[in-house]
Amino acid sequence: MTHPAIEGARRWQAELTAIRRDIHAHPELGMEEQRTAALVARELRALGIEVTEGVGKLGVVGTVRGTRPGQRVIGLRADMDALQITEQTGLPYASQNTGVMHACGHDGHTTMLLGAARWLTENRDFAGTVHLIFQPAEEGRGGARAMLADGLFERFPCDAVYGLHNKPTMPAGRFAIRSGPALAAADRFEVTFRGTGGHGGSTPHLATDVTVVQAHFVLALQTIIGRNVPAVEAAVLSVGSIQGGSSISPNVMPAELVITGTARSYTPEVRDLLERRIGELANGLASAHGCTAEARYMRGVPATVNHAEQTDVARAAAMALVGAEGVGSHAPVTGAEDFALMLEARPGAFMFIGGGSGPDGTSPNLHTPHFDFNDEIIPLGVAWWASVVQQELGGGREA
Ligand SMILES: [Zn+2]
Ligand SMILES: [Zn+2]
Repeated sequence: MTHPAIEGARRWQAELTAIRRDIHAHPELGMEEQRTAALVARELRALGIEVTEGVGKLGVVGTVRGTRPGQRVIGLRADMDALQITEQTGLPYASQNTGVMHACGHDGHTTMLLGAARWLTENRDFAGTVHLIFQPAEEGRGGARAMLADGLFERFPCDAVYGLHNKPTMPAGRFAIRSGPALAAADRFEVTFRGTGGHGGSTPHLATDVTVVQAHFVLALQTIIGRNVPAVEAAVLSVGSIQGGSSISPNVMPAELVITGTARSYTPEVRDLLERRIGELANGLASAHGCTAEARYMRGVPATVNHAEQTDVARAAAMALVGAEGVGSHAPVTGAEDFALMLEARPGAFMFIGGGSGPDGTSPNLHTPHFDFNDEIIPLGVAWWASVVQQELGGGREA
C-alpha cells in the first residue's frame, strides 16, 4: 500500500496518534466539545489555515485554497463528540471524564481530518477550495442541524460534501460505500392509550382495559413490517418501553398506558408509511376496545442517501490507495448518521474505512465500552481525504 499521501501521513503518525489519544483521554458530549473544538482550531491555525469558530455553537471550519485557479469548492466533514458510556478498555490514554467515552471513533475522525489539513497545506497544487468541517454533536444532539441552521453552506458554499466513518467490524486497509440509501432514518414514536381503568378483580366488565389494547398493538406493529412495507424494502419497528399501572396494585387496571419505540427506514415513502400506520393501528385498536389513543411520531435524522456521482468519486479516491480489491459495497446500515442532513443540502457521499485489527479482521464494535479507534489507519484515512481532493480538484473536473 503505497501512495504519496499515505507515505506523507505516515511521517506524522506519532504526532497524529498523540493528538488522537489526547482527544480520546478528554472526551466531551455533544454541544459540550469546548476543549476539542479549541484543540482543532489551534491545530488548524498552527498550519496557517483560515479558521472560523462557533459555527452551530461549537463547529469549526478551516478553509484551504489551492494554488491553481478553480471555482469548485468541496466540504470534508468530521465529527468531534463522544458518548455517555463508561470506558472499560484499561488503556493508558483511557477517558479521564468518567461516564463519557469516544466509543464511536470520532476522536479518530477529527484526527484524520487534521492530518488531511496538514497534507493540503503542504500540497496546495489543486484547483479550488476545500472547507474542513469539524462538526459537534453527531450522536443525537443535533450538531449537523445546528451548523446548517447557522448558515454552514451559505457561509461556506460547497459543490459537494464528503464524510468518513471508521468501521471496526471491517478489516483495516479496506473501504466500503453504498450508492443511494446507506444508513437509516432514525425516528421515535410514543403512543398513549387511555381508558377508564377500574377494579381488575371485581368489576372488569365495567371498565375499558388499556392493557389488552396495548397487547394487540405491540403484536400488530410487526404487521406494518410484514404486510405494509413492500417485501423488497426494509424497515424496523421496536418497542422500547411500556409504562402503566403499578406492581404493588396488580388488581387495578390502569387508566393510561404509554408505549415508546424506535423506527428505522430508508426512503421517505416507507417513513411516511410507518408514521401513518402506527397512528391508524393505535386509533383503530383503541376504538375497537372502547379506549382512545394518542400517537406521536418524532422524526430524527433522515436516511443517509449517497449521491451516485460523489459515491463514484469516493470509491475512486479509495481505489487509488488500496486498489479495486480493497473497496467494497455494504448492506444498508440500520444505524443513523446526522451527516444525512448535509447530504440533503448538498450532493455528497459517506465512506466507511475498516478499522478491524483482530485475528479475524474485526475489533470491538462501535458504542461498546471496549472499543478503541485503530491508530494504524490514521495515515490511510488522511490519504483518503487527500485522494478525494485529488479526484475533485486535481484536474479534469474544474468547474
Ligand atoms: Zn456513534
Ligand atoms: Zn459515529
